[in-house]
Amino acid sequence: MAAEIKAPPPRDPSAAVPLVPGAMAASRPNVANDKIQQSLGFPGELAPDWQQKALARMGELLGQYRSLRVYMDACVRCGACADQCQYFIGTQDPLNMPVARQELMRSVYRRHFTLPGKLFPKLVGARELTRDVLDQWYTYYNQCSECRRCAVFCPYGIDTAEITMAAKEIMDCVGLGQKYPNEIIAKVHRIGNNLGLPGPALENTLEGLEEDVKDDTGVDVRFPVDEKGAEVLLVVPSADFFAEPHVDSLIGYAKVFHAAGIRWTLSSHASEAGNFGLFIGNYDHMRRMALRVREAALELGVKRIVVGECGHAWRIAYSFWNTLTGIGAGGSDPFAAALQRQLDPTFRQPTHICELTWDLIRRGALTFDKDANDHRVVTFHDSCNVARGSRMGDAPGGQFTIPRAIIRAVANRYVEMAPETTHERTFCCGAGGGLLTDELMDLRVKGALPRMEALREVADREGVNFVATICAICKAQFSTVLPYYGFKMSMVGGVHQLVSTAIRLGAKD
Ligand code: SF4
Ligand code: SF4
Repeated sequence: MAAEIKAPPPRDPSAAVPLVPGAMAASRPNVANDKIQQSLGFPGELAPDWQQKALARMGELLGQYRSLRVYMDACVRCGACADQCQYFIGTQDPLNMPVARQELMRSVYRRHFTLPGKLFPKLVGARELTRDVLDQWYTYYNQCSECRRCAVFCPYGIDTAEITMAAKEIMDCVGLGQKYPNEIIAKVHRIGNNLGLPGPALENTLEGLEEDVKDDTGVDVRFPVDEKGAEVLLVVPSADFFAEPHVDSLIGYAKVFHAAGIRWTLSSHASEAGNFGLFIGNYDHMRRMALRVREAALELGVKRIVVGECGHAWRIAYSFWNTLTGIGAGGSDPFAAALQRQLDPTFRQPTHICELTWDLIRRGALTFDKDANDHRVVTFHDSCNVARGSRMGDAPGGQFTIPRAIIRAVANRYVEMAPETTHERTFCCGAGGGLLTDELMDLRVKGALPRMEALREVADREGVNFVATICAICKAQFSTVLPYYGFKMSMVGGVHQLVSTAIRLGAKD
């Protein structure tokens, strides 16, 4: 029988993390079957020559991404990153120290891509890529959420997330893929969203939401889909369509558009902002999924593309859409050029929904009843991909200030968590990077430890009872793990859930 999953006991955050070697050696996510693998163009299983293929792919990646080679060479083993990873803090497994996680690949790199490693492998800690080493990669690279926290503390800026992504790409290319992200990517290619929700079901869901909001407010707030000629194409994580608490943010976005008189639409073709191609380090899949957004924007003739509350989706939109698709800038093909002519250059392309809402608030285009949120004492969890992989607005740090400014505009009571756990130094929720899957629950609960400790502190001291965040994965993860730490699962929600509660619809007074 599987051991009962429990939150780690309270700890002294100022004490060193004790070491429990092998504590998470048995934590492995389900492997993708041959059907899933082949649907993504990867081998269905390990072939007899997998080792040569893996090393060949590693060589290609080292040539393609100079950063990866620098990361392999630059580490001086100073240890500054060692205790900065939520998975090491929560599991106490030394192989979850970022430097140790990197070493799993670096030892193979040394053996095959450096002269000392080729001549004196033992002397320099070089290893062959054996089946045992590959299994260790599968185990521990699937205990990294690619959150980049460790990189903030590394004097050389070594980004373990990029190493993890490279390892996942190599494993996929030899037939050892992870089921959860790969199955989801296949669904997006086939149907258009992570949930496999077809167009008619999406329309029904949105009609249901229109009725719910009408019952609730008496106002006809629309949730349009595939409406040609709309000004804004809104792309959201598909969890927003029905899962709690995500859907409350979707209602919030719709109310903002309604109150501001902006004509907007969703797209059944691009009904997913999430893009798990990032998590598996595969830029071809990432591009194919991102192109759906471009296709939808061209088809619908919109002037702006706005992205909903999804952390990694915003990172991709902000940092990669230009080179992947030509949205906003970049791209040399005729479709990219056509879209750039079509989109309105007076707006940032793409725009985060928080930028759009904050801009409307600043211009006085929205009014709020802040007291409507008085049952909430709110704190904000910075999502790692937004905090460390993107920006918002015109000023540096906008990704931190804009969501907080919106919260303060719609709620009276706001409290910050400890500074060493927020902004650039935020901790991952514990389930990013493709780890939001049931078979990794033990890892997810333990990985949430630093965030739950910071939350406990403000809950006890200030009565915080609501954690706002702008990431679908954080919302799903917190809803699941909060009860393990003695909190209510309903304690998490989106920034636009707060907006939805406070916004006044109808005539402005
Ligand atoms: S989970 Fe985050 S902090 Fe930990 S090794 Fe991966 S990128 Fe670094
Ligand atoms: S902080 Fe950077 S240089 Fe120091 S051990 Fe970690 S990865 Fe290596």
